[in-house]
Amino acid sequence: MANPKPTIKYTQIFINNAFVDAKSGKKFPTINPSTGAVITQISEGDKADVDLAVAAAKSAFARGSTWRTLDASGRGLLINKLADLMERDVNYIANLETLDNGKTFSDSVGDVHASVGTLRYYAGWCDKIHGNTIPSDGGKFTVTQKEPVGVVGQIIPWNYPVMMLAWKWGPALAAGCTIVLKPAEQTPLTALYLAALSKEAGFPNGVINVVPGYGPTAGAALSQHPDIRKVAFTGSTEIGHVILNAAANSNLKRVSLELGGKSPIVIFDDANINEAAQIAHDALFGNHGQSCCAGSRTFVQAKIYDEFVKIAKELAMKKKVGDPFDPTTNQGPQIDQEMFDKVLGLIKSGKDEGAVVQTGGERQGNVGYFIKPTVFSNVKDNMRIAKEEIFGPVQSILKFDTLEEVIERANNTTYGLAAAVITNDINKALQFSRAVEAGSVWVNCYDAITPQTPFGGYKKSGIGRELGEDGLEGYLETKTISIRVPALN
Ligand code: ADP
Repeated sequence: MANPKPTIKYTQIFINNAFVDAKSGKKFPTINPSTGAVITQISEGDKADVDLAVAAAKSAFARGSTWRTLDASGRGLLINKLADLMERDVNYIANLETLDNGKTFSDSVGDVHASVGTLRYYAGWCDKIHGNTIPSDGGKFTVTQKEPVGVVGQIIPWNYPVMMLAWKWGPALAAGCTIVLKPAEQTPLTALYLAALSKEAGFPNGVINVVPGYGPTAGAALSQHPDIRKVAFTGSTEIGHVILNAAANSNLKRVSLELGGKSPIVIFDDANINEAAQIAHDALFGNHGQSCCAGSRTFVQAKIYDEFVKIAKELAMKKKVGDPFDPTTNQGPQIDQEMFDKVLGLIKSGKDEGAVVQTGGERQGNVGYFIKPTVFSNVKDNMRIAKEEIFGPVQSILKFDTLEEVIERANNTTYGLAAAVITNDINKALQFSRAVEAGSVWVNCYDAITPQTPFGGYKKSGIGRELGEDGLEGYLETKTISIRVPALN
């Protein structure tokens, strides 16, 4: 049941299975994006707290520790236990998420279930991670062994707070790593509650630590830390550069980055136009447009362009924007003042550059960070709204003529996270899928992201993959052990 006033149980830093104040004593506010009001004050982690959390994670990873000597299958049991507890508390977690993030309550419930699915998927991997026996030259008996990289730092964004946490914790724990996670400063509440659940599940002290705080302080301390062996980051491409530099300038820690996008969704004129318009609508407006893989360049073939724009406009106008706890609401607020201003600024640039506003194009009401679902037609490739990541409820519809042309234009971006094609022609679908530079390609669907399927970016959309078997790679080292065999037979 939706409850707009869930009791906030945890507001401190979680280190070594205990909640503690920041060393500095400082706190920062977390804001309700529906009203702009402060929900509560959170302990503000900084370098000193990150140092303590890393020390705890390091000691949890020490040779002979409870965690290191636990059977691999035992790690799976613990991860599954955490998933059980999340299922038990799904309503409470979803209420915290909606309060802190502004997404609709039903979306928050969906996110928790998806996160449980991810944790269970990785729980199953724990005792299936193994190396090879290799017929090496020179008469040695050679095996490889997969080992956890060690202490990992994880820095996550505010758009899917619970889900991003599950994408990070699942593979790290399955591999046997220990964790220091920094949630986004906008949305610390659910991560702190899940920290408490991890203790209840029985994870040994120090395996999971959560340090809320700001990017340039707590986040920077993680990415620069000499005892962190890998940092996993999801966020903006701009900060992706900063993280990679910090890794290079400190201890060459492994880095995985899941960054921004400007994903094309291409609709051919043979498609069922109503179905295509709905897929494109959901691809963009899901999570209020605050999704790294949002279908933010809608390419429509010339013959059906005008009709498509008309349907897209009707779909956007039907969306009910408002209180995310109200079950009839389809779209809540944007996350904060900064993003609200950024999205409205890009909408203004679209108007100034000559795109046509079909609907929306302004804020809704005068409290909170609500923006009307916006549809632009007559969008040209060189406009800012066609090039920059907007991260808001703004659909940009572009016109194209041929397959060759649309492949060129779809790839003409520094990003490469996702792409989609809607057509009944298998040849067009395959040609596009093979030619487009993107980590995920969806044919006649969008957002087909499951725990089993690798997800990540080409080009400036990132480095490495999350989810699936590929998602384990970044948390593992391969050790080659060669043994001299005295006599071969
Ligand atoms: P967004 O624009 O979506 O807020 P950011 O990349 O700014 O994306 O933030 C994503 C995460 O990265 C957040 O947890 C944020 O605190 C963190 N972050 C921001 N700046 C830095 C930084 N300089 N070093 C490390 N982490 C950072």
